[in-house]
Amino acid sequence: MIVSPVFVAGHGGMVGSAVCRRLATMPDIEVMTRSRGELDLCEESQVNDFFSKNRPATVIFASAKVGGIHANKTFPVEFLTDNLRQELATVHASFRNGVGRFLFLGSTCIYPRLAKQPIKEDELLASPLEQTNEAYAIAKIAGLKLCQYFRQQYGVLYHSAMPTNLYGPGDNYHPDHSHVLPGMIRRIHEAKERGDASVTIWGTGTPLREFLHVDDLADAILHLCHLDSPPDWVNVGTSLDVSIFELARLVAKTIGFQGEIRTDPSKPDGTPRKLTDTTLIRSTGWEPKIELEQGIVSTYQCFLKEQDSGKLRSK
Ligand code: GDP
Repeated sequence: MIVSPVFVAGHGGMVGSAVCRRLATMPDIEVMTRSRGELDLCEESQVNDFFSKNRPATVIFASAKVGGIHANKTFPVEFLTDNLRQELATVHASFRNGVGRFLFLGSTCIYPRLAKQPIKEDELLASPLEQTNEAYAIAKIAGLKLCQYFRQQYGVLYHSAMPTNLYGPGDNYHPDHSHVLPGMIRRIHEAKERGDASVTIWGTGTPLREFLHVDDLADAILHLCHLDSPPDWVNVGTSLDVSIFELARLVAKTIGFQGEIRTDPSKPDGTPRKLTDTTLIRSTGWEPKIELEQGIVSTYQCFLKEQDSGKLRSK
């Protein structure tokens, strides 16, 4: 059962807003949110004040400094520091102020670079990390472990979900710093608008990635928050993957771009494959509902709407 009130940290982001949309359909639950201007989660004293005054019972921690392969490689200091500070402040303030359940968002990109595929939960820390996002991974592993240790040492239900690559409404469409799906949607859309004969995607196009619609993740998060004995961390994905080149073809088909798709091997590929084993979460009664093709179509429609209304995130 989800105990109200629920504080959704990071409600403005893609995951947090999807969780809030889902919680809005549950009239018995009071939802608390704060913008970054109102509450800077990196600032321990602000976080302590917020928790002692507002006393949430449940926390869904969807706040993080995130970015694609380029941003992660360029700003490792900020990815490590900002994420660690937010996690430490929020988990500690939660414990001090009686939060009984804390759902921490990890990510499958914190598994080792050459994790056995499909990736099971016990691959965490089994071998070296992927270099391009090591700083983010170290911060997220620390947060996940902190939740596990609190649960082990103090008996509170602090646990984590490990989503695979996400996409959906409210994504970040920055041309360099975004993840691959929004990056491609924007690049291919702009190529079509200009009438270009070709579009170039990053890397060799051969890496394999799995994609989960963020509404499916929100559904999984609330499902996990209902469990009396959730796993310490659990993968959330589809267990289906696609090559980056095939993904570009799907995006081009959705957008109606008929030009050539070229690759640029001078850009990094990142980890060769990242497919999750979702046996554990499926055994608890959850499964994804949104298929990739259908999800790309609805996400492209959202992209167009966000662009028309001047609300496209691009930072
Ligand atoms: P990753 O899953 O952590 O590696 O991060 P990304 O989502 O940024 O990249 C996934 C893969 O897509 C990598 O192999 C990238 O080289 C490739 N890729 C192709 N085109 C793009 C693009 O426009 N943006 C991004 N971010 N990645 C791209």
